[in-house]
Amino acid sequence: MSNPRNGRPYRRLTAAQRALGLPCWICGHNIPYEIRGPLAGRHPLAFTLDHLVPLSRGGDLLDPANARSAHRRCNSARGNRTAVRQPRSSRRW
Ligand SMILES: [Zn+2]
Repeated sequence: MSNPRNGRPYRRLTAAQRALGLPCWICGHNIPYEIRGPLAGRHPLAFTLDHLVPLSRGGDLLDPANARSAHRRCNSARGNRTAVRQPRSSRRW
């Protein structure tokens, strides 16, 4: 299986974005960039590469202009939200 997120261009983009040392673009707080390695895989505040235009809406995975720095938890919370369907608005009680 080929996952573009495992590819070298994606890793390079991730490293470049991390090197910018920017705060989380979602919540605005600093990202603890000292968290890295195996620990970062689970840490909720670890740096993750997020995308301004979600991939699900046609955003480019590898475009630096579409790359944003985000906490893991902010990134996943946002991702979950866009993945969730519209709430049932016609529900009657
Ligand atoms: Zn955040």
